[in-house]
Amino acid sequence: MPVDYRAPLADMQFILHELIPFSTINSLPAYQEVSDDLVNTILEEASKFAGEVLSPLNWSGDQEGCSFAEGEVRTPQGFKGAYQQYIEAGWISLAANVDFGGQGLPLTLATPVNEMWHSANMAFMLCPMLTAGAIEAIEHHASAEQQALYLPPLVSGQWAGTMNLTEPSAGSDLSAVSSKAIPNGDHYLISGTKIFITYGEHDFTENIVHLVLARLPDAPPGVKGISLFIVPKFLVNADGSLGKRNDVHCVSIEHKLGIHASPTAVMSFGEAGGAVGFLVGEANRGLEYMFTMMNNARLAVGLEGVAIAERAYQQAAQYAQERVQGKIPQTTGKLPILHHADVQRMLMLMKTQTEAMRSLAYLAAAHSDLAQQHPDGATREASQKRVDLLTPIVKAWSTEQAIEIASLGVQVHGGMGYIEETGAAQHLRDARITTIYEGTTGIQAGDLLGRKIIRDDGQEVKKLIKEMQTTIEALAKSSLAELQIIAGELDKALHALEGAVDWLLKAHANNPQAALAGAYPLLKCFGIVCGGWLLAKSADIAATKLQTNPEDRFAQQKIASAIFYTHEVLSQAPGLVATICSGESVAKAMRDGLADLLH
Ligand SMILES: Cc1cc2nc3c(=O)[nH]c(=O)nc-3n(C[C@H](O)[C@H](O)[C@H](O)COP(=O)(O)OP(=O)(O)OC[C@H]3O[C@@H](n4cnc5c(N)ncnc54)[C@H](O)[C@@H]3O)c2cc1C
Repeated sequence: MPVDYRAPLADMQFILHELIPFSTINSLPAYQEVSDDLVNTILEEASKFAGEVLSPLNWSGDQEGCSFAEGEVRTPQGFKGAYQQYIEAGWISLAANVDFGGQGLPLTLATPVNEMWHSANMAFMLCPMLTAGAIEAIEHHASAEQQALYLPPLVSGQWAGTMNLTEPSAGSDLSAVSSKAIPNGDHYLISGTKIFITYGEHDFTENIVHLVLARLPDAPPGVKGISLFIVPKFLVNADGSLGKRNDVHCVSIEHKLGIHASPTAVMSFGEAGGAVGFLVGEANRGLEYMFTMMNNARLAVGLEGVAIAERAYQQAAQYAQERVQGKIPQTTGKLPILHHADVQRMLMLMKTQTEAMRSLAYLAAAHSDLAQQHPDGATREASQKRVDLLTPIVKAWSTEQAIEIASLGVQVHGGMGYIEETGAAQHLRDARITTIYEGTTGIQAGDLLGRKIIRDDGQEVKKLIKEMQTTIEALAKSSLAELQIIAGELDKALHALEGAVDWLLKAHANNPQAALAGAYPLLKCFGIVCGGWLLAKSADIAATKLQTNPEDRFAQQKIASAIFYTHEVLSQAPGLVATICSGESVAKAMRDGLADLLH
């Protein structure tokens, strides 16, 4: 049977308090009241809710799925009740603005809490996650009247929000959006079809606020002609009460590989003359508005990767302790498969990569808070550059690895992993979407290379590499042999990465296809190196803890994580760099190999 989720509080607290550390966040004027004790209380309470309320519905929700009839969607048994409990406990408003009823807590704290929700029940969590995206769009770009009308019920969770961007011919390339918006007095009439809309229709809330991309009749073609609209399912009267049903309807929901409990809707706007929509901000700036929100949404999906990887690890770790099979060298009697070296290898790959991904996701969240709230303008700017650089890595590296980790989870189970009842397969199926939505891995890799590295001539990435080098200097001073090994391997990986960046900067000018061929290997290499760096820093902190308490099991395991990751994962970096620097040859081989298709 599927294993219930237990939040990895020790690792979460270590990363928050010691690696980040959280003191850099609660020393900001905006967060001085967020004491370490408050952080720990929130984490503990969230872990109970995740373990006791959301996690038990994960597998049953997957098996039952959502149903659709006559325009209405019913979520699986227990989900609606869990949503009520979730909003009544105030979990939905943790990081939302206090002006609209939120609790105004930092993203650095909301991130581990959100990780718990995603681990416990990713399909459930997609509803609050999409609502958070809608809140952000309205808060940043809508008028004061629109904010007053829509934000309080969205922040309280009384209403939910959606993002209606994708159309049959507009997926990665949203410049192709063709939904129409015709001016009609104080509002617009929206028509068109949107596909793949997460929680486009459901039974959690009395109203759903759709954020919709559409074009005005006189809009210029392409990216500069797309506007953003609020289209509520029920129109809202001036006093906030619900009015007429709007002309927007769910026409079907998708049958899909995973996240069965999350309804993915096909939405039809304007079948009866036009859905009433209200322009957000200025006309033709819709795509630009969406881009300002993308960092947080992409970090949120990257965090889904961390969360599913953790859940898959817990499932596999439990099974490995129970299943007895095969003989273990130099032992007598039968022991669980946990004692096989290869099973240990798989579990450690799962555990250490998850820890590395978690560290990077929390670090990006901390930079995001600093970019918003630091009193010094130069620090805000520097932190924003860092979040911008890290975002595609958190999004794409963590999700690509999550799929591999969930797949390893199946492998640890042997044949039972391929059978639905154990629950291991669900994690692999659920993880599979994370590299697709909110910008595919290909889009993230192109973003990292083009916008984050080439555009500033590699300055920000080189700044980060320099910072990583200070960790090597700290480790090299240690008397612990493990830390010396880690320092040596990290040094090699950093030199290789720097070489790849230099090669790409030159290649991009002469042969962009050769550089783009290296975009994904670069993203992977970058993720691996960032993970290695953060685990190395963790090992350094752990070594100091061991000086005062040599029996500290957590600290011992942190060093073990870092040394294992260094040998098994970080060691892949130079190979990836060799691939990147062979870009011209790779690009030619791809052209030649696919010539029949490309002609
Ligand atoms: C379960 C689910 C939930 C979703 N939820 C929502 C939602 O709530 N709201 C919403 O608006 N949308 C949603 N989506 C849509 C999702 O964001 C898109 O599927 C995604 O952006 C990819 O677009 P596409 O499917 O059209 O693929 P395409 O854009 O056709 O991509 C196909 C392949 O081509 C590659 N490719 C395309 N362009 C480039 C490029 N420039 N460089 C390199 N490679 C490229 C891609 O990486 C991919 O491998 C959801 C999708 C699913 C399946």
